[in-house]
Amino acid sequence: MPKYLTLTDYAQITGSAPIKRQTHGWRAKCLQRLVRLEMPVPQTIALSFAVVREIATGAQMNLRHLLGHFPKGQLLSVRPSAEHPQWGGPAAILNIGMNDEKHAEIAAAYGEPVATALYLRFVQSYAAHVAHLDPDMFDATEPCLPALQAALRDYEAETEEPFPQSPAQQLADVLRSMARAWEGTSARLLRQAKGAPLQAGLGLVVQAMAGGIGAGESGAGLIRFIDAETGMPQVTGRFKSRGVHGQEAMKNGADVLYLTRDKRGPSLEERCPEAFAELLRHGEYARRRLREEMEIEFTLDDGKLWVLDAVTVQRSSRASVRVAVDLANEGIIERDEALMRIQPKALSDLLHRQVDARARTEVFVRGIAASPGAAIGRVVFSSTAAQACASRDEPCILVRRETTPEDIRGMHSAQAVLTERGGMTSHAAVIGRGLGVPCVVGASGMQIDERRKTVQAAGHTLAEGDMLTVDGTNGVVLIGEVPLLEPALDDRFTTLLDWADARCDIGIRANADTPADARIARGFKAQGIGLCRTEHMFFEDDRLTLMREMIFADTSEDRQDSLERLLPMQRADFIDLFEIMQGQPVCIRLFDPPLHEFLPHSREGMRFLADALDKPLSEITRRAEALSEFNPMLGMRGVRLGVTIPEIYEMQARAIFEATVEVSRRATPIAPEIMIPLVSAMREVELIKSRIDAIAATVRSRMGVDFEYRIGVMVETPRAALRAGDIALHASFLSFGTNDLTQMTYGLSRDDAGRFMSDYVQQGVFPEDPFRTLDLDGVGELLTLGAARGRKAREELTLSICGEHGGNPESIRFCRELGFDYVSCSPFRVPVARLAAAQLVIEELG
Ligand code: PEP
Ligand code: MG
Repeated sequence: MPKYLTLTDYAQITGSAPIKRQTHGWRAKCLQRLVRLEMPVPQTIALSFAVVREIATGAQMNLRHLLGHFPKGQLLSVRPSAEHPQWGGPAAILNIGMNDEKHAEIAAAYGEPVATALYLRFVQSYAAHVAHLDPDMFDATEPCLPALQAALRDYEAETEEPFPQSPAQQLADVLRSMARAWEGTSARLLRQAKGAPLQAGLGLVVQAMAGGIGAGESGAGLIRFIDAETGMPQVTGRFKSRGVHGQEAMKNGADVLYLTRDKRGPSLEERCPEAFAELLRHGEYARRRLREEMEIEFTLDDGKLWVLDAVTVQRSSRASVRVAVDLANEGIIERDEALMRIQPKALSDLLHRQVDARARTEVFVRGIAASPGAAIGRVVFSSTAAQACASRDEPCILVRRETTPEDIRGMHSAQAVLTERGGMTSHAAVIGRGLGVPCVVGASGMQIDERRKTVQAAGHTLAEGDMLTVDGTNGVVLIGEVPLLEPALDDRFTTLLDWADARCDIGIRANADTPADARIARGFKAQGIGLCRTEHMFFEDDRLTLMREMIFADTSEDRQDSLERLLPMQRADFIDLFEIMQGQPVCIRLFDPPLHEFLPHSREGMRFLADALDKPLSEITRRAEALSEFNPMLGMRGVRLGVTIPEIYEMQARAIFEATVEVSRRATPIAPEIMIPLVSAMREVELIKSRIDAIAATVRSRMGVDFEYRIGVMVETPRAALRAGDIALHASFLSFGTNDLTQMTYGLSRDDAGRFMSDYVQQGVFPEDPFRTLDLDGVGELLTLGAARGRKAREELTLSICGEHGGNPESIRFCRELGFDYVSCSPFRVPVARLAAAQLVIEELG
């Protein structure tokens, strides 16, 4: 025995009806707002989530009572109304109530073609969505009487029942099928992917079809008041005369009118100036009262305007920024609200070129979206080839199994980088983000044949020179050249970020290794450099050979000699950085990687080096082998090099101090920050600090100038976090290097994690890739302990994060709660971080 629902289980939408977004969904609520704004909304009934849930389980409504709200013979539509528009819902069904009798009635009044088009469309959508028949069977291209008759015959043959003629039965079946569709597994998974909770409900709205078929100007249309791509004020949309509704009106055809005057054809503005002017008024009124740019779905019935629905305009990130800033500038919303309306991550779409979402594309391979933006170029398999392309001004994509520091110049020359291995913090990813070069890593579905110079994936084989498009925002690589959209940094973007800065209460610095990075960082108003990885400075052509000479030096004097020649180059680097940053803090990390990374990896490279150093090839190979380690990331690197080969750090300290004196003499005084990497014990810091202090004293007395500097520690090993108390006794600041800290906390190689990370995330082992999203439970606990222990030992200790997580909104929230002084992230993420930090403050202000 089916359950019967009572009469009070639905609400007619009036200005005062008890309709809430949380019980009846966004569409019902929005329609109520339009009613309150006194717009001509057709009669509408809203069914709550609870009722729809009951209907899905077989309960029946008193439909005669519900239909009693509408004039007899009224055609109806049913549309979904979930709590958020992006959670979707079943397709709307229009023209419920069409049957043979109604067909005859409309045919007599307005002509048979109008009646047939309406009836056929209803049969088509009823067959597909309610009876679940094969839609292809009902897909008549031209609505005409024989097509309608065929559809009714096919319906009966497939279901063994005639097409339902009772409007009450039609409505009952539509409501039940929509209610059940919402409970289906695919609908649930889709909405959960958009953030809907497990229990998300569906409301339904039953609305009178507002004609659109009258004798005078009749039809249906859609109007927007902005360009959805740029956000600029502009009327866009279409109006289609007679018999079709809503989105269908967007499909161009002979009976489609432009909205505004247009040389290409007739327009609504000319044909129905009053209705058009009324639409503009409604648009402006909705904008001011609903405080949003709305897209209005409307009909004209014999010249009379009806507003069927209004939704916020779907728009690009660029348009979102412009609309929010314009609404705030006009006093329609507060500045804080404008800031809250923009997703921080959406800002990175504005900073880079993007694949045009409207383009037709063919996927070559997918991987991890490691550095945002899109680029097109010819496939090359080596850094040398990339540099050769750059010298010919030919855009290229560097495709590698993985990149090493040797590839830096190739990466600089390439438009994008694609690697088979790696994760969010592997070399290619970190450098790609730093350079602003789009990058996809961990694309394990492709196989590179370096000898043949080909790469294979998804049944395609590409050779050197073939075109690819890399979409680093979405982690997809596309075959051939795909249309791209240009970045859009307009004055609205700058205004929004200035408003963000006025709210932001945590420092935002940039990770910048080169003058180019530093300039970008300043352009994005970073408040200093939080991490300058100095090793990247040694991969320039002239320095690499000197570096190798230093590595192969037989005696301390020989090593000193090579370092003496590197010193002026390093000093010049720091002078550049200090000058660009104009007195803002610059935190320089001393040399970090294993020396082995500087050696050539090929036999040819070894031979070249033997020539350059005038040593036998056998000796070069033997020494290189001796330097190789089983586990280089846990081996002779960071402070361990500093302790065992003191000359390197001493040269760097001298270069930093000499640059400080020079820049402070002719420009703004500088107080550099020197950071020691990969520390795990207090004694390491004590040793290095005393040596750096000694160098400072020498430079001071030799140059006769005093200067300030600060020495700090990069917390990258779990032990350093645990022992932050003793370490802080010798450090003015602690900066958490969460890339290595994540690697070491999980015991998970940051360069190899890409191979299995997607399996791990898919199977729920990790909720997210911990190299992308800071693991608050584990690594976060080390940050909490380290910060508390450090501050307990030294109250004025500066705390920061400089791993790649530093620019993520969720890590900024966490670090701010721990009382960190600043976060540091790649220059292109600085705007994202500025907005995310401001939103935290606004959220707190409530
Ligand atoms: C880190 O380990 O978090 C870090 C910033 O240093 P790198 O990525 O250079 O190892
Ligand atoms: Mg590190």
